[in-house]
Amino acid sequence: MDGEYEIMVAVYFKSASTPFAKDALHVAIKKLMEKINVIEKGDIVAVKLHMGELGNIGYIRPIFVRRVVEFIREQGGKPFITDTTTLYGGHRGNAIDYLMAAAINGFSIASMNCPVIIADGLLGKDEKIVELNGNKIAIAKAIMEADCLITLSHFKGHGMAGFGGAIKNLGMGCCSKAGKIWQHEVSKPLYDENKCILCRKCLTFCPAGAIYEEDGHIRIDYTKCAGCGACTVLCEQGCFYLTNEIASEFQRRVAMAAKAALKKFGGKVAFMNFLLDITPRCDCCSFADKPVIDDIGILASNDAVAIDKASYDLVCRVAGRDIFNEIHGIDGTVQIEEGEKLGIGSRKYEMMEI
Ligand code: SF4
Ligand code: SF4
Repeated sequence: MDGEYEIMVAVYFKSASTPFAKDALHVAIKKLMEKINVIEKGDIVAVKLHMGELGNIGYIRPIFVRRVVEFIREQGGKPFITDTTTLYGGHRGNAIDYLMAAAINGFSIASMNCPVIIADGLLGKDEKIVELNGNKIAIAKAIMEADCLITLSHFKGHGMAGFGGAIKNLGMGCCSKAGKIWQHEVSKPLYDENKCILCRKCLTFCPAGAIYEEDGHIRIDYTKCAGCGACTVLCEQGCFYLTNEIASEFQRRVAMAAKAALKKFGGKVAFMNFLLDITPRCDCCSFADKPVIDDIGILASNDAVAIDKASYDLVCRVAGRDIFNEIHGIDGTVQIEEGEKLGIGSRKYEMMEI
């Protein structure tokens, strides 16, 4: 159109192809960080990442995180590695368990050369409330107190959101337990009795005690169900499931929480998505499964919507199909569209290879 042009958001890309030492991915981290640098001398910088459930091996490799920390220090910033506690069972439900799991997975003050801080405190209750569109969203306090936020996201499939990237890392990942409960209120699963073999394993794995047996039938007490999704992963018969409508509503809340997490930072945010070890499910699982496609590379941007859109497009292009939708039957692009609608960022990007 005459006189009009579209503004494209920059997304930087380093391919996973590393034929020579100069191409190594840990070397590229510094080059990518230089492109998206928002750090000023003296800034307290939250480096938000998922440090992996115990038993999972798909999470971001510690060497990449260490390189990010080194870059922040070179800028005069004060970095800390951070994540929040979970709603469900496992090894990250409180700060003690999480820090132990993180150390086993390679993240400690010794390996990272900076503190590892669980942002929502010992029991997941340290929070600040952000008001957004009539909602009160509980964001983890230590993240809200930082000057800059850098999210490092392992890009992979997700059983409730289709995929997990920067938006999910911001939305779910930056919330305290109360903020997570608010998002999961709309993701309570349905139950298909026809698939049930009455193994009764679900009677023990629901963290809310919402699953019970009545006259030889499994039931969900929806007044207790927290919508955490553990049963959708742990029932090997696939009895618990989400519809696309439930998953879409869940993604809308995740995007809203992402917007809340970003609100205080102005432009002082940066994102990296790691398209490596692209597993079918998220790093909250105590297993990783085989990657669904070959490694693609690392993306960096100052726009959470653009980086997730670019990452999703790359995965679809390399796979030759929408592989996450194929695996989970969930359209994960709702979170990207919603993120754009909320003003988090833009789906129009220009990819630049470094
Ligand atoms: S875990 Fe699944 S198959 Fe086993 S009793 Fe529960 S719903 Fe049925
Ligand atoms: S019923 Fe399923 S989704 Fe609900 S709290 Fe229990 S494990 Fe989580």
